[in-house]
Amino acid sequence: MTCKAASIVLSCLVSSLLAGFLVLTSSPAGAGTLIVNARIVDGSGLPARPGAVRVAGERIVAVGEIPLARGDTVLDARGMVLAPGFIDTHSHAVDTTGAGERTLGKLPEAIAAVSQGITTAVVGADGSSSLPLSVAFSELERARPAINVATYVGHGTIRLRVMGEDYRRAATAQEIETMRGHVARAMEEGALGLSSGLEYDPGIYSSREEVLALAQESARHGGRYASHIRSEDRDLWEAIEEVIAIGRDTRRPVHISHMKLGMKAVWGQDEKFVGMLDAARREGIDISGDVYPYDFWQTTLVAMFPQRNLTSVAEARASLDDIAVADGIRLTIFTPEPALVGRTLAEIAAERREDPALTLTKLASAAAQAGQDDLATMAGMSQQDVDALILWPQANVCSDGSLVDGHPRGAGTFAKIFRYYVREQKLLTLEQAVHKVSALAAQNAGLRERGRVQAGYFADLVLFDPAALTDRATAREPQLLSTGMSKVWVNGGLVYDDGRATGVRTGRILRSH
Ligand SMILES: [Zn+2]
Repeated sequence: MTCKAASIVLSCLVSSLLAGFLVLTSSPAGAGTLIVNARIVDGSGLPARPGAVRVAGERIVAVGEIPLARGDTVLDARGMVLAPGFIDTHSHAVDTTGAGERTLGKLPEAIAAVSQGITTAVVGADGSSSLPLSVAFSELERARPAINVATYVGHGTIRLRVMGEDYRRAATAQEIETMRGHVARAMEEGALGLSSGLEYDPGIYSSREEVLALAQESARHGGRYASHIRSEDRDLWEAIEEVIAIGRDTRRPVHISHMKLGMKAVWGQDEKFVGMLDAARREGIDISGDVYPYDFWQTTLVAMFPQRNLTSVAEARASLDDIAVADGIRLTIFTPEPALVGRTLAEIAAERREDPALTLTKLASAAAQAGQDDLATMAGMSQQDVDALILWPQANVCSDGSLVDGHPRGAGTFAKIFRYYVREQKLLTLEQAVHKVSALAAQNAGLRERGRVQAGYFADLVLFDPAALTDRATAREPQLLSTGMSKVWVNGGLVYDDGRATGVRTGRILRSH
């Protein structure tokens, strides 16, 4: 008996040594971090489970019950949630729109992003990107950002490059051919696909045929299409049809950026909105969308003039009646007269003893004529619609924000999902929320080996107490950082630790191939 018992013990010892040895060979001694005592929410949407995760180098190498190996650095998660790093599928962390010194290249620690758990920013949104991408990629690589960056190539940027200032017209066949060349090159350089901003200059002047031709070029290289659609208000339904048609023609995934019902006349029609998308999906079109969790947006004053008659008081008045009221429009950037930042259109008009519609024409004209930057937050959505769109199963979360933003979405979006949707409203379970900010986001942007806590995946991870993660940014104080995120790893490097950037910056450019 004793002998037998001894032999069992011995064989157990041998197998555990063997197991230890195998672990040691697959993860070099001293190079691994073993995160124990975690509540793993893996991104799939399945229930949280207790367990450990081993990270070696840039990858997750084991998940579950993992024996300690020699040289492991052990981290006790103390029962906190360990989830995939959050993926922001529509970010302005890298671009030139009013940002200048405030982009990732200049702020590589990306504190506004990592403090809410963002480990990957998808940029080049709204038709606006760097061009050529290769140059921007090398600049960004030199800056060594803390977070990963993937990008679309922007239709508007290409259009401007090809047509110059003469863009207020349809492009010729020759010009579209030249634009195709830019798309092809960007795809070879690693773009995820084509983005468009069809409510903005110069995209607003493009024909459907032009956009389709360029989306086809992107598709030919395996790319996808993401669109700030032609209208988020008066011509919303036709605009949705246009994206669906591009998905039908290209047979590649299409994505509606920051889905919204952006005028009172369409409020409450979320069922029609997602009904169109669901019908398209049943037809075999891979359509998805992203949403940011706020009932006000931020855009240029010029966007309030869909006909671009910037001096037309009637056009201004129509937008103030239908889209966003004067006391819901607050300037966040206004280079022609920076003192106006923080004020609402209603306040400025009252001070000038003017009709707000007249003031709007003057402000928009001043910004446009000087080619200067202006941005304003505009309250024009209903919270119920925002909620309904976020709950659509194919909707992931985006911020549409930048690292130093005049809108709270730049610093608050992802933490707000957990505070508002999970804790307060209980509209999403913890697991559903994590799914929408990780695995689903990766799928909707075409990112591989990210967005799940799974062996073999890149070690983009967040550790947080779901009862504590909270956004603090508001319309008046949009840059207040989120709190409650404990640790953030990007490609295995710990970039954020209890409220502070660590100085480790292990982000990468995620090329599509
Ligand atoms: Zn947009």
